Amino acid sequence: GDANDDAEPRAHAMERALARAAASAGIRIRLLDTCYLTGAIDAELSPEQARFGDGTIDGYMDRHAGLTEAFAEEFPVNAPGESFVHVGAAIHSIRAVPAANLPRFAELTGPVHVHLSEQPAENEACQSAYGASPTEVLGRSGVVTDRLSAVHATHLSEEDIAILGGSRSTIVMCPCTEADLADGIGPARELADAGAVISLGSDQHVVLDALRETQGLEAGERLRSGQRGRFSPTELITALTEGGARSLDLPVGALEVGKACDFVALRTDSMRTMGSLDEQIILTATSADVSVTVSGGRVRVRDGVHAELGDISELYAQAFAALEMEG
Ligand SMILES: [Zn+2]
Repeated sequence: GDANDDAEPRAHAMERALARAAASAGIRIRLLDTCYLTGAIDAELSPEQARFGDGTIDGYMDRHAGLTEAFAEEFPVNAPGESFVHVGAAIHSIRAVPAANLPRFAELTGPVHVHLSEQPAENEACQSAYGASPTEVLGRSGVVTDRLSAVHATHLSEEDIAILGGSRSTIVMCPCTEADLADGIGPARELADAGAVISLGSDQHVVLDALRETQGLEAGERLRSGQRGRFSPTELITALTEGGARSLDLPVGALEVGKACDFVALRTDSMRTMGSLDEQIILTATSADVSVTVSGGRVRVRDGVHAELGDISELYAQAFAALEMEG
């Protein structure tokens, strides 16, 4: 926003809106505050991109510190598991943050995410500007650690895989997005074998279904390798639960002492899941089979109805209609 007198009440308005919505629904969230300084390597942001920008790395770091402080006040972390709102940092990509600025992210505590080698063009631009791959540039800057989540990691060299695996970074595979955007299939099995931790995510709004993403991970592996069973059902469940919790540094992902009680229950009697062995359900269910959602030990949603907010489909239809009216 502009640095004028009425800017202060609107500071972090989007972040606050998302955080309040998540907290009111009982969704545990890690908002990844994203640094986006250039439209491409050595290119200014386009007019349409200007609203993403912080101008300089100092501008980003100052705003990020302000956001962290504002959230600590509004959403205090009293005990692990009791807090639903957390802040993290993201380097949008090697295209959007100059290499000289990357070491600043090594100073931050908490998780750091980056879109990595999503398309071959990103690798080519990076090679011609820096003479190295995006993973190598990040590695030299000290940000490839076990706190880093590399999103996509689709077009990697063997050296890149060794760097990410050796540092035990988390990889956020987004199979539905990568398929929809025709970006390719990343080397998930090789990354896991090299020591990286696989998790799952989404980078668009066409498909928002964690189970379909999980199935897409194994389907992509089979298609590119010509082999079945590249990830076992247990490995897929671990990627979906513990992998995701590690990527976002949240005290969830397993039902054990010291962790928050967050889980979903899946129907075993739907057209998709009926007859599946327990461990096979990860390969047959979709989000339509989620019957109960629990977070912080409380039932939030049962059969599509939120305990406090009501019927989710109706709420969505109302929100969508309101957007269409504005549009
Ligand atoms: Zn992306």
